[in-house]
Amino acid sequence: MAVDRPKSQRLADHGLQSERLLWPGKGPSEFEQELGDIESQLGLTTLDKAIAWAQTKSMWPDTFGLACCAIEMMSIVSSRYDIARFGMEAFRSSPRQADLLIISGRVAQKMAAPIKQIYDQMLEPKWVIAMGACASSGGMFNNYAVLQSVDKIIPVDIYVPGCPPRPEGLMEGIIRLHERVQAGVPAAYEVGGVAK
Ligand code: SF4
Repeated sequence: MAVDRPKSQRLADHGLQSERLLWPGKGPSEFEQELGDIESQLGLTTLDKAIAWAQTKSMWPDTFGLACCAIEMMSIVSSRYDIARFGMEAFRSSPRQADLLIISGRVAQKMAAPIKQIYDQMLEPKWVIAMGACASSGGMFNNYAVLQSVDKIIPVDIYVPGCPPRPEGLMEGIIRLHERVQAGVPAAYEVGGVAK
């Protein structure tokens, strides 16, 4: 990673006042030049930050759709939205190979158990996006047949509003999730569990 450096490379310009450094017309020494070259070519980070960065660049979603929102979700792999930019185009058919579960649509009571099973089969770390009004709150389906938010059975990291959210909305949610991961915010299952 390139690092911006100030124009001056002389130690004297940084406050070191030895006689040799103040020698008129003296340029940067070999050591100073090598040090400057190394600093301009290296980027230092921590292992945790490097791992978090890698996780956001290979966060594979599970192949899973529930209702009308799923149609919008499918379009994010198209060239117009191009989720491959984030290394995420590989929707996995096995939850064991997926990091991200996008709940795209209303959750009927009948689907609650299969969703919970899929979530439990995903390896940690794993994240969940509730896409749309129905997945987030039951939406217009305020009745006994529909779960009034998927967070009653699995922990949710990001809620995307809308009915349906446009693909741009889902992309916004994904980018917000990436920011959380890179900032070191723990996944929802680590901090909150499910809603009571
Ligand atoms: S939020 Fe709207 S588009 Fe999405 S599943 Fe519910 S009714 Fe369908």
